[in-house]
Amino acid sequence: MPSRPQNGKDNDRMEFLLTLRRRGISDQAVLRAMDEVPRCDFVEGEFADRAYADQALPIECGQTISQPYVVAYMTEQLALSPHHRVLEVGTGSGYQAAVLSRLAREVVSIERYRTLAEQARARLAALGYDNVEVVVGDGFAGVPEKAPYDRIIVTAAAEQVPQALLEQLADDGGVMILPLGPRDGPQHIIKLTKSQTEISGENLIAVRFVPLLPGQAQEL
Ligand code: SAH
Repeated sequence: MPSRPQNGKDNDRMEFLLTLRRRGISDQAVLRAMDEVPRCDFVEGEFADRAYADQALPIECGQTISQPYVVAYMTEQLALSPHHRVLEVGTGSGYQAAVLSRLAREVVSIERYRTLAEQARARLAALGYDNVEVVVGDGFAGVPEKAPYDRIIVTAAAEQVPQALLEQLADDGGVMILPLGPRDGPQHIIKLTKSQTEISGENLIAVRFVPLLPGQAQEL
């Protein structure tokens, strides 16, 4: 039977999924979400040809869209269910929020740059991902008015776990995933699980993230 003709873009997207599988992502729902969300719509024009390479890429305001493997890995570690409400800190391009929106009931994402938040909002709306709310503000404070969250994901590196985020995590098995470590030093993904009596932690893979900076950005 003749196979469907492949253009370069299809090949890139097939290779993209193969790379994620090869690197160990095995959750079918996560792979489906990674397949469904067009990363090319979240990168700047000049980087469009690298949208499906397994690389972080520059976005506006000196920030980055995370590497697809790291997005898939952190998403897989969150073990999302369709009824979950999720807080993301560090909207950036909106890509990670888009992936989360395919797997959870509701996503609240907070970004300190108004420019990035507005662009992300527009992209998410254009794709019809209407269960994501993008908020401008300081992620160190979280978004308390919408707490508690079943899951929290931080996509910029902090030196310590922000206390407000821990408080906003549900205490019935809530999970928070975040990169911890110094700005230019070794960082690791940490997974925290919260119950009524304790918070347990697990050290996962080594990563490289832009820093979590205090306060809403004064520049746009
Ligand atoms: N999740 C993003 C990756 C963004 S990079 C994506 O999928 O594209 C990290 C983002 O965190 C940057 O946009 C940066 O501006 C933002 N950030 C850093 N410190 C923050 C803070 N305190 N509150 C909210 N956002 C913050």
